Amino acid sequence: MNNLVSIRNLVKYFDIGPNQRVHAVDDISLDIGEREIVGLVGESGSGKSTLGKAIVGLHDKTSGSVSFKGELLPTKYGPQDFQRHATHMQMIFQDPYSSLNPRMTVGEIIGEGLRLHRQLPAATVRESVAEWLERVGLEADHMSRYPHEFSGGQRQRIGIARALILEPEFVVCDEPISALDVSVQAQVVNLLDELKKSMGLTLLFIAHDLSMVRYVSDRMAVMYLGSLVEVGTANELFFNPKHPYTKILIGSNPEPDPKLERQRPSTAIEGEIPSPVNVPPGCRFANRCPKVMDICHHTTPNLISLVEVDNADAAPRDVACHLYT
Ligand code: SF4
Repeated sequence: MNNLVSIRNLVKYFDIGPNQRVHAVDDISLDIGEREIVGLVGESGSGKSTLGKAIVGLHDKTSGSVSFKGELLPTKYGPQDFQRHATHMQMIFQDPYSSLNPRMTVGEIIGEGLRLHRQLPAATVRESVAEWLERVGLEADHMSRYPHEFSGGQRQRIGIARALILEPEFVVCDEPISALDVSVQAQVVNLLDELKKSMGLTLLFIAHDLSMVRYVSDRMAVMYLGSLVEVGTANELFFNPKHPYTKILIGSNPEPDPKLERQRPSTAIEGEIPSPVNVPPGCRFANRCPKVMDICHHTTPNLISLVEVDNADAAPRDVACHLYT
Protein backbone atom coordinates (compact mmCIF):
# COMPACT_ATOMS: atom_id res chain seq x y z
CA MET A 1 0.00 0.00 0.00
CA ASN A 2 1.39 3.43 -0.92
CA ASN A 3 1.37 6.13 1.72
CA LEU A 4 -1.01 8.99 1.01
CA VAL A 5 -0.10 11.05 4.09
CA SER A 6 3.25 10.92 5.88
CA ILE A 7 3.67 12.72 9.18
CA ARG A 8 7.25 13.12 10.42
CA ASN A 9 8.27 14.32 13.89
CA LEU A 10 5.30 16.68 13.98
CA VAL A 11 5.29 19.13 16.89
CA LYS A 12 2.59 21.69 17.73
CA TYR A 13 3.08 23.92 20.77
CA PHE A 14 0.90 26.84 21.79
CA ASP A 15 2.68 29.67 23.61
CA ILE A 16 0.35 30.90 26.35
CA GLY A 17 2.59 33.25 28.35
CA PRO A 18 6.17 33.94 29.37
CA ASN A 19 7.98 30.57 29.45
CA GLN A 20 4.67 28.74 29.26
CA ARG A 21 3.65 26.56 26.36
CA VAL A 22 1.08 23.85 25.79
CA HIS A 23 2.77 20.74 24.37
CA ALA A 24 -0.30 19.66 22.38
CA VAL A 25 1.49 17.44 19.83
CA ASP A 26 5.02 16.27 20.60
CA ASP A 27 7.10 14.53 17.96
CA ILE A 28 4.51 12.39 16.19
CA SER A 29 5.36 10.27 13.14
CA LEU A 30 2.68 8.26 11.35
CA ASP A 31 2.04 7.05 7.81
CA ILE A 32 -1.50 6.71 6.45
CA GLY A 33 -1.83 4.48 3.40
CA GLU A 34 -4.04 5.07 0.36
CA ARG A 35 -7.63 4.03 1.11
CA GLU A 36 -6.77 3.26 4.69
CA ILE A 37 -8.83 4.26 7.73
CA VAL A 38 -6.70 4.98 10.77
CA GLY A 39 -8.59 5.43 14.05
CA LEU A 40 -6.88 7.95 16.34
CA VAL A 41 -8.01 7.36 19.91
CA GLY A 42 -7.29 8.73 23.37
CA GLU A 43 -8.90 10.71 26.19
CA SER A 44 -9.90 14.37 25.91
CA GLY A 45 -6.78 16.51 26.21
CA SER A 46 -4.49 14.02 24.48
CA GLY A 47 -3.97 16.30 21.44
CA LYS A 48 -5.92 14.31 18.84
CA SER A 49 -7.86 17.24 17.39
CA THR A 50 -4.76 19.46 17.35
CA LEU A 51 -2.91 16.77 15.41
CA GLY A 52 -5.81 16.49 12.92
CA LYS A 53 -5.94 20.25 12.41
CA ALA A 54 -2.16 20.52 12.00
CA ILE A 55 -2.28 17.81 9.31
CA VAL A 56 -4.85 19.68 7.19
CA GLY A 57 -3.26 23.10 7.77
CA LEU A 58 -5.81 24.55 10.22
CA HIS A 59 -2.96 24.89 12.75
CA ASP A 60 0.57 26.02 11.85
CA LYS A 61 3.19 23.39 12.63
CA THR A 62 5.80 24.26 15.26
CA SER A 63 8.21 21.80 13.64
CA GLY A 64 8.19 18.54 11.72
CA SER A 65 6.43 17.90 8.45
CA VAL A 66 3.38 16.50 6.70
CA SER A 67 3.58 15.19 3.14
CA PHE A 68 0.65 14.42 0.87
CA LYS A 69 1.43 12.01 -2.00
CA GLY A 70 5.12 12.76 -1.44
CA GLU A 71 4.67 16.54 -1.65
CA LEU A 72 5.74 18.47 1.44
CA LEU A 73 2.85 20.62 2.73
CA PRO A 74 3.46 24.17 4.03
CA THR A 75 4.39 24.70 7.70
CA LYS A 76 2.01 27.64 7.78
CA TYR A 77 -0.91 27.79 5.34
CA GLY A 78 -1.78 30.98 3.49
CA PRO A 79 -5.10 31.53 1.63
CA GLN A 80 -3.65 30.13 -1.60
CA ASP A 81 -2.53 26.95 0.19
CA PHE A 82 -6.08 26.36 1.44
CA GLN A 83 -7.38 26.99 -2.06
CA ARG A 84 -4.89 24.51 -3.48
CA HIS A 85 -5.22 21.73 -0.90
CA ALA A 86 -8.92 21.99 0.05
CA THR A 87 -9.87 19.79 -2.84
CA HIS A 88 -7.45 17.06 -1.64
CA MET A 89 -7.89 17.27 2.13
CA GLN A 90 -10.97 18.08 4.19
CA MET A 91 -12.10 17.93 7.80
CA ILE A 92 -15.40 16.85 9.35
CA PHE A 93 -15.90 18.53 12.71
CA GLN A 94 -17.09 17.23 16.07
CA ASP A 95 -19.96 19.58 16.74
CA PRO A 96 -22.18 19.65 13.69
CA TYR A 97 -24.21 22.59 14.99
CA SER A 98 -21.45 25.04 15.78
CA SER A 99 -19.61 24.20 12.56
CA LEU A 100 -22.63 25.07 10.37
CA ASN A 101 -23.42 28.76 9.83
CA PRO A 102 -27.00 29.18 11.19
CA ARG A 103 -27.71 32.05 8.76
CA MET A 104 -26.97 30.01 5.65
CA THR A 105 -29.31 27.48 4.09
CA VAL A 106 -28.16 23.89 3.94
CA GLY A 107 -27.76 24.27 0.17
CA GLU A 108 -25.47 27.29 0.62
CA ILE A 109 -23.44 25.49 3.30
CA ILE A 110 -22.88 22.32 1.29
CA GLY A 111 -22.30 24.16 -1.99
CA GLU A 112 -19.89 26.76 -0.55
CA GLY A 113 -16.76 24.70 -1.26
CA LEU A 114 -17.74 24.19 -4.90
CA ARG A 115 -18.40 27.90 -5.36
CA LEU A 116 -15.16 28.97 -3.64
CA HIS A 117 -12.74 26.35 -4.89
CA ARG A 118 -14.17 25.30 -8.24
CA GLN A 119 -16.06 28.46 -9.29
CA LEU A 120 -18.85 26.38 -10.78
CA PRO A 121 -22.08 27.98 -12.08
CA ALA A 122 -24.99 28.16 -9.61
CA ALA A 123 -27.10 25.56 -11.45
CA THR A 124 -24.28 22.99 -11.39
CA VAL A 125 -23.64 23.63 -7.69
CA ARG A 126 -27.35 23.16 -6.97
CA GLU A 127 -27.43 19.87 -8.87
CA SER A 128 -24.39 18.59 -7.01
CA VAL A 129 -25.80 19.66 -3.61
CA ALA A 130 -29.05 17.80 -4.37
CA GLU A 131 -27.10 14.68 -5.29
CA TRP A 132 -24.98 14.87 -2.11
CA LEU A 133 -27.98 15.41 0.15
CA GLU A 134 -29.38 12.14 -1.16
CA ARG A 135 -26.02 10.39 -0.90
CA VAL A 136 -25.85 11.16 2.82
CA GLY A 137 -29.43 9.99 3.41
CA LEU A 138 -31.25 13.36 3.34
CA GLU A 139 -33.60 14.78 0.71
CA ALA A 140 -32.81 17.14 -2.16
CA ASP A 141 -35.47 19.65 -1.07
CA HIS A 142 -33.76 19.99 2.34
CA MET A 143 -31.36 22.43 0.65
CA SER A 144 -33.65 25.40 1.32
CA ARG A 145 -33.86 24.72 5.07
CA TYR A 146 -31.60 25.99 7.88
CA PRO A 147 -29.38 23.92 10.23
CA HIS A 148 -31.63 24.37 13.29
CA GLU A 149 -34.41 22.47 11.48
CA PHE A 150 -32.39 19.23 11.63
CA SER A 151 -31.53 16.69 14.35
CA GLY A 152 -27.92 16.20 15.54
CA GLY A 153 -27.43 13.13 13.35
CA GLN A 154 -28.86 14.94 10.30
CA ARG A 155 -26.59 17.92 10.94
CA GLN A 156 -23.59 15.62 11.00
CA ARG A 157 -24.73 14.24 7.62
CA ILE A 158 -24.83 17.85 6.34
CA GLY A 159 -21.27 18.32 7.65
CA ILE A 160 -20.19 15.14 5.86
CA ALA A 161 -21.77 16.28 2.58
CA ARG A 162 -20.09 19.69 2.91
CA ALA A 163 -16.66 18.05 3.35
CA LEU A 164 -17.06 15.37 0.68
CA ILE A 165 -18.70 17.37 -2.12
CA LEU A 166 -15.21 18.46 -3.22
CA GLU A 167 -14.30 14.76 -3.54
CA PRO A 168 -11.17 14.99 -1.40
CA GLU A 169 -8.81 12.03 -1.21
CA PHE A 170 -8.08 12.46 2.50
CA VAL A 171 -10.47 13.44 5.28
CA VAL A 172 -9.82 14.03 8.97
CA CYS A 173 -13.00 13.14 10.88
CA ASP A 174 -12.68 14.94 14.24
CA GLU A 175 -14.91 13.04 16.68
CA PRO A 176 -17.81 13.14 14.22
CA ILE A 177 -19.95 10.87 16.40
CA SER A 178 -19.20 11.89 19.97
CA ALA A 179 -22.07 14.41 20.19
CA LEU A 180 -24.61 11.84 18.94
CA ASP A 181 -26.77 9.14 20.60
CA VAL A 182 -25.28 5.64 20.41
CA SER A 183 -27.88 4.44 17.87
CA VAL A 184 -27.20 7.46 15.62
CA GLN A 185 -23.43 7.00 16.05
CA ALA A 186 -23.66 3.62 14.32
CA GLN A 187 -25.59 5.14 11.38
CA VAL A 188 -23.00 7.88 10.87
CA VAL A 189 -20.10 5.41 11.15
CA ASN A 190 -21.79 3.13 8.60
CA LEU A 191 -22.37 6.09 6.25
CA LEU A 192 -18.69 7.06 6.44
CA ASP A 193 -17.70 3.45 5.83
CA GLU A 194 -19.96 3.25 2.74
CA LEU A 195 -18.63 6.54 1.36
CA LYS A 196 -15.08 5.41 2.04
CA LYS A 197 -15.70 2.30 -0.06
CA SER A 198 -17.55 4.06 -2.89
CA MET A 199 -15.15 7.02 -3.12
CA GLY A 200 -11.86 5.29 -2.24
CA LEU A 201 -11.37 7.74 0.63
CA THR A 202 -8.52 7.72 3.10
CA LEU A 203 -9.60 8.72 6.61
CA LEU A 204 -8.07 9.68 9.91
CA PHE A 205 -10.98 8.96 12.26
CA ILE A 206 -10.54 10.69 15.62
CA ALA A 207 -12.57 9.29 18.51
CA HIS A 208 -12.40 8.57 22.20
CA ASP A 209 -14.67 5.52 21.86
CA LEU A 210 -12.51 2.63 20.66
CA SER A 211 -15.32 0.13 20.45
CA MET A 212 -17.14 2.11 17.75
CA VAL A 213 -14.13 3.25 15.77
CA ARG A 214 -12.56 -0.20 15.55
CA TYR A 215 -15.37 -1.38 13.26
CA VAL A 216 -14.33 1.02 10.53
CA SER A 217 -10.58 1.29 11.14
CA ASP A 218 -7.88 -0.72 9.40
CA ARG A 219 -5.36 0.44 12.00
CA MET A 220 -5.63 2.32 15.26
CA ALA A 221 -3.19 4.76 16.83
CA VAL A 222 -3.44 5.54 20.55
CA MET A 223 -2.45 9.02 21.69
CA TYR A 224 -1.65 10.15 25.24
CA LEU A 225 -0.63 13.66 26.28
CA GLY A 226 0.65 14.66 22.84
CA SER A 227 2.46 11.40 21.97
CA LEU A 228 1.61 8.15 20.26
CA VAL A 229 1.87 5.21 22.67
CA GLU A 230 0.66 2.33 20.48
CA VAL A 231 -0.11 1.75 16.78
CA GLY A 232 -1.40 -1.51 15.30
CA THR A 233 -4.06 -3.17 13.19
CA ALA A 234 -7.50 -2.42 14.63
CA ASN A 235 -8.52 -5.90 15.74
CA GLU A 236 -5.09 -6.90 17.04
CA LEU A 237 -4.83 -3.71 19.05
CA PHE A 238 -8.38 -4.02 20.39
CA PHE A 239 -8.21 -7.69 21.39
CA ASN A 240 -4.53 -7.86 22.32
CA PRO A 241 -3.46 -4.40 23.54
CA LYS A 242 0.15 -4.10 24.69
CA HIS A 243 0.55 -0.65 26.21
CA PRO A 244 -0.86 -0.28 29.75
CA TYR A 245 -2.77 2.85 28.68
CA THR A 246 -4.38 1.08 25.71
CA LYS A 247 -5.44 -1.77 28.02
CA ILE A 248 -7.09 0.62 30.45
CA LEU A 249 -8.65 2.67 27.64
CA ILE A 250 -10.25 -0.44 26.17
CA GLY A 251 -11.52 -1.48 29.61
CA SER A 252 -13.11 1.95 30.00
CA ASN A 253 -14.82 1.80 26.59
CA PRO A 254 -16.91 -1.39 26.69
CA GLU A 255 -18.80 -2.60 23.63
CA PRO A 256 -22.09 -0.78 23.13
CA ASP A 257 -25.04 -3.06 23.80
CA PRO A 258 -27.06 -3.08 20.55
CA LYS A 259 -30.21 -4.39 22.30
CA LEU A 260 -30.20 -1.68 24.91
CA GLU A 261 -29.03 0.97 22.43
CA ARG A 262 -26.94 2.52 25.13
CA GLN A 263 -23.52 2.17 26.56
CA ARG A 264 -22.85 -0.23 29.40
CA PRO A 265 -21.32 1.46 32.44
CA SER A 266 -17.60 2.03 31.92
CA THR A 267 -14.66 1.82 34.29
CA ALA A 268 -13.09 5.24 34.78
CA ILE A 269 -9.37 5.62 34.25
CA GLU A 270 -7.83 6.49 37.62
CA GLY A 271 -5.85 9.67 38.13
CA GLU A 272 -5.68 12.82 36.07
CA ILE A 273 -3.97 13.26 32.74
CA PRO A 274 -1.03 15.64 33.52
CA SER A 275 -1.15 19.20 32.23
CA PRO A 276 0.29 19.59 28.74
CA VAL A 277 1.94 22.78 30.07
CA ASN A 278 4.00 20.84 32.64
CA VAL A 279 4.78 17.60 30.85
CA PRO A 280 6.43 15.18 33.30
CA PRO A 281 9.88 13.74 32.55
CA GLY A 282 10.13 10.08 31.52
CA CYS A 283 6.94 8.25 30.53
CA ARG A 284 4.00 10.65 30.43
CA PHE A 285 1.67 7.90 31.68
CA ALA A 286 3.80 7.06 34.76
CA ASN A 287 1.55 8.76 37.35
CA ARG A 288 -1.41 6.57 36.30
CA CYS A 289 0.27 3.37 35.19
CA PRO A 290 -0.28 0.18 37.22
CA LYS A 291 2.99 -1.26 35.85
CA VAL A 292 5.22 1.75 36.56
CA MET A 293 8.92 1.05 37.22
CA ASP A 294 11.82 3.27 38.33
CA ILE A 295 13.07 3.87 34.79
CA CYS A 296 9.65 5.20 33.77
CA HIS A 297 10.09 8.32 35.92
CA HIS A 298 13.20 9.58 34.16
CA THR A 299 13.54 7.96 30.71
CA THR A 300 11.05 8.57 27.90
CA PRO A 301 10.14 5.34 26.08
CA ASN A 302 10.41 5.57 22.29
CA LEU A 303 7.77 4.17 19.95
CA ILE A 304 9.41 0.98 18.71
CA SER A 305 8.29 -1.92 16.52
CA LEU A 306 7.50 -4.94 18.63
CA VAL A 307 9.08 -8.20 17.59
CA GLU A 308 7.05 -11.15 18.79
CA VAL A 309 9.61 -13.95 18.83
CA ASP A 310 7.00 -16.66 19.39
CA ASN A 311 4.66 -15.37 16.63
CA ALA A 312 6.35 -14.68 13.29
CA ASP A 313 2.97 -13.94 11.62
CA ALA A 314 2.01 -11.22 14.10
CA ALA A 315 0.80 -7.99 12.49
CA PRO A 316 3.17 -5.02 12.91
CA ARG A 317 2.79 -3.25 16.24
CA ASP A 318 4.53 -0.17 17.58
CA VAL A 319 4.57 0.46 21.33
CA ALA A 320 6.17 3.14 23.52
CA CYS A 321 6.68 1.42 26.89
CA HIS A 322 9.70 0.23 28.88
CA LEU A 323 7.96 -3.11 29.46
CA TYR A 324 8.89 -3.96 25.83
CA THR A 325 12.44 -2.56 25.63
FE1 SF4 B 1 3.84 2.20 32.41
FE2 SF4 B 1 6.47 2.53 32.43
FE3 SF4 B 1 5.27 1.52 30.29
FE4 SF4 B 1 5.00 4.08 30.95
S1 SF4 B 1 6.87 3.08 30.32
S2 SF4 B 1 3.39 2.72 30.28
S3 SF4 B 1 4.93 3.99 33.16
S4 SF4 B 1 5.38 0.60 32.32
